Amino acid sequence: MNINLGNLFSTITAQEIAVLFIVFLMGVLVSYLWMLGKQKKENIDKKKLESYMKGINYIIEDETDKAIKELTDTAKLDPDMIDIYLSIGNLFRKKGEINRALIIHKSLLARANLGKDKKLEIYLNIGIDYKKAGLYDRAKKYFKDALSINPKNNLAKRLLYEVYEDSKDWENALVWHKRFDGVDKHTVAHLYTELGKDKLKEGNLEEAKKNFEKALKEHKSCIDALLHLGDIYFQYGKLEKAYDLWEKVCITKPEFCDLALNRIQDDAILENKLKDILNRFPDNVFILFFSAEAFLKLQKDQKATSLYKTLLKKGIKSPFILKRLAEIEKEHTPKFLKIFTSKQIVYPIRYTCTNCGHSAGKLFFRCPKCKSWDKIRVDII
Ligand SMILES: [Zn+2]
Repeated sequence: MNINLGNLFSTITAQEIAVLFIVFLMGVLVSYLWMLGKQKKENIDKKKLESYMKGINYIIEDETDKAIKELTDTAKLDPDMIDIYLSIGNLFRKKGEINRALIIHKSLLARANLGKDKKLEIYLNIGIDYKKAGLYDRAKKYFKDALSINPKNNLAKRLLYEVYEDSKDWENALVWHKRFDGVDKHTVAHLYTELGKDKLKEGNLEEAKKNFEKALKEHKSCIDALLHLGDIYFQYGKLEKAYDLWEKVCITKPEFCDLALNRIQDDAILENKLKDILNRFPDNVFILFFSAEAFLKLQKDQKATSLYKTLLKKGIKSPFILKRLAEIEKEHTPKFLKIFTSKQIVYPIRYTCTNCGHSAGKLFFRCPKCKSWDKIRVDII
């Protein structure tokens, strides 16, 4: 078919040409705006990524304030980024600003169309905020809310165990510790022991005994359980059984032998036990030191002196031991030792957590800092 273009244009009016031109211009404008929008979005994405990375770097460098500022700026660029808000809340928690952490974390719950996984994550974070604030009942509620979404969530189970432990609810701590993947027999033994100690305070000797026995079934060398089960037998008048249990402490963990020796009130029995244990462990520095201290209490100064000197020969040159020697030997004290008598020197036993490095002069079976059980190194300083 032959189309005569001259005829075609002659049939289009000037008004129709103007309309076509405007349509063309609008098409150009829409394309331009689309391009502009695309470029702007790319710019925002780039800025967001840069800002986000900067924030993460500040977290790594432990610059909490700078990290909060950077991540807050990132969040303004994309209010839908829940993970960033969660991080900002966590940073406030780390700074100890629990209220601000809670405001941010709780505000996330108000969002529509939250997926189950995100909701669970938000519940956990709110629970951790409350746990850090010491508001254990509220923390428990949110961890249980998280478990209602996914009863198998291991982190929720572990946090619930920890919060029961923090609130010294040993019975429930045991229940939840046994439910999460990561059960530790040392921890279970200590939880039974703590439960037993509570029963002992209530005067319920039989229940206390049962719990100490359960503890030893979990971990036969649990020092605290051995000591306390010994106490029960002592109260029942079964002295030999009590002495056997306390002796077991010295045999299995000589670094805790003082806890057992301090329980023996009868001087003659104590002296016999000391002789016996020194025969068995003549080279153990803890046995030597604690025996020296016990002999000193028994006013057997000569025996104590000999043991302190053995310790010095073994390289344990503790100022405390020098002070003890200076005090015992009095007028015979060599001049170089006399300076120690006037000095304030602390008891030389130091307990250090092998997990986090927390160190104290007071015994702890559960580290007050990292909350782990039975991670103790004992030193004579
Ligand atoms: Zn620790």
